[in-house]
Formats: sequence, C-alpha cells, structure tokens
Amino acid sequence: MMRRDFLLGSATAGVAAVSATQRISAQEQTAGMPRLTPPEKPAELNLCLQWGAIPGTEMKEKLDFLEANGFAAVELPSGPWLFDNVEAMKKAMAGRRLFIATACGPSDFSYVEAEKRDAEVAKFLPQLEVLGALKSVGLILCPARSKPGLPFPELRDDFVNNTGKKLAEHAAKQGTSIVLEPLQRAETKFLRQVADGAAMARDIGPGCTVMGDFWHMSKEETSFMGAFLSAGKLLSHVHIASLKNRKVPGVDGPADNYVDGFKGLKLLGYRGAVSLEGGFPKEMDKTQLILNMVKLLREQWAMA
Ligand code: MG
Repeated sequence: MMRRDFLLGSATAGVAAVSATQRISAQEQTAGMPRLTPPEKPAELNLCLQWGAIPGTEMKEKLDFLEANGFAAVELPSGPWLFDNVEAMKKAMAGRRLFIATACGPSDFSYVEAEKRDAEVAKFLPQLEVLGALKSVGLILCPARSKPGLPFPELRDDFVNNTGKKLAEHAAKQGTSIVLEPLQRAETKFLRQVADGAAMARDIGPGCTVMGDFWHMSKEETSFMGAFLSAGKLLSHVHIASLKNRKVPGVDGPADNYVDGFKGLKLLGYRGAVSLEGGFPKEMDKTQLILNMVKLLREQWAMA
C-alpha cells in the first residue's frame, strides 16, 4: 500500500470511530464514570498572607487588613519572632474570624553529625509549643536543602524515625503538626513531590502533615490535582504564587491558572489555608495587587 493510501484509510477509520462514539448518549457516558464520594464537609477557600506581605506595620493593623479583605488565615515567621510575639498575638487574635495557619522558616536535618541534627530538633521543640498555644496548623519544615550531608536513604530513614519523628510527636502533644514542604530540584533533590512528602508523613505518623506549593509543584508535578489528591487528608497547607515569576497571583496573565489544583482541593474537602508566598512587582500598588489576587482566586475557585 502506498503511504498516501494508508493515511487516507486511517483517516476514514478515524471518522467511523468518532461517529460510533457520538452515538453514545451523554447520559451513558456519565454512567460509565467513577462515582466520587463527596467530602463530609465541603472544601473552603481560606486565603492567607505571610506576615511580611500584609500591608501595615502594627500587628492590629495587619490583622484588621486581613479580616477586612476576605482573608481567613495568617502565616507567621518562625524563629525568634514567635517567642517575642506570642502573648501579643494571642491577645490580638481574640474574637477574630482568622486562624493561624503555619510558621515558616529555614531548617536542615541533613547534617552528618548526629549532634547537629539533635540541635536542630532542640531548636524547633519550643517553637512547636508556641504554635500549639496559638492553635496553629503547624510548623513548615524542609528536611534538607541544596547539598544534604547524609546520603538520601540514610537521611530519609533518620528523618522518619528520629528527627522528624521526635518533632512530630512533640507537635501532636501540643495540638499542632510539622508540615513537610516539597521544594523543587534547584533547591533540594531530597523532597520535591507532594506524594513523597505525604508518604513520609504517613510513615512518621501523628503530628506530621504535608503541604503543596503551587510554584514548586509547577516545576515538579505532572498534575496539580493529582499531586493534591495523593496527599489526601495529610494535606494541611498550600502556598501559591504567580506561575512564571513567583509574584502575587494575577501578574503573570493566563499562566496563573490554578483551577486544576483547586479541583483537587475541592475533591479532598480541603479547609486549610491557601497562602501567598511570592513577591510584588515594585512599580505597582501592593494593596491593589493583593485585592486583584483575591478576586482572581475566588473566580478560579468557583470555576473548579
Ligand atoms: Mg513554599
């Protein structure tokens, strides 16, 4: 058969196949789809800002801004800031329609020397106590960055059974959690996919959860929805940013599409925070950019 005849024949067969498919009614097609169990409580879009991104300087001013502009949560810095501000924050949060999502700061559990890893654990134990007192969702941790000291199998084993385990157990006692954050390969090759973080959280047990950061996920995951679904009930936090330049969502035009990921969050009945972790273009008004983001994310949540 000449190549041209073969191609013509293939095209004709394709048309026949399409016609047969079209004869199946829309109802029959729906009946063949898997039936999903809806979550007990519907998902909520709980928008959140990191402390440094909130307009204003005073604590009350910042929290007032969040409440007045449709935010549901706040993300705090970890480290000394927490200890310096815990009492003031407790008072400032009283009676507000806001929850404290997470605290976020640097961590490293990959040192070759066991005493250095122990010191890192000891550094975070009292922070977990503060976060428990603030009824926070948890403390964001990245087990290792850039070039980990320990090789990967040993590092995973040590984190799951020793460093991460100790922190998670302490967190659970305080009513909070450690939140594993998968990054991207340029920052760490150790933990870069939500499913892997979820598996580690499952292996560690109570007091350990996982999060997804849309920016990192855009580099490492094949599907936002699939990645979130793989975390299931262990998903406790989400970071979001524009998907070309890691700025406030909305500034990168059509690239800033979160609908697929929001579908996953809706299927999970996710009610944690969706927190901006990204910069602001200098030449534009920060408050207006935040309000634009709120509008965009609410529209896309409705579409999901
Ligand atoms: Mg992040």
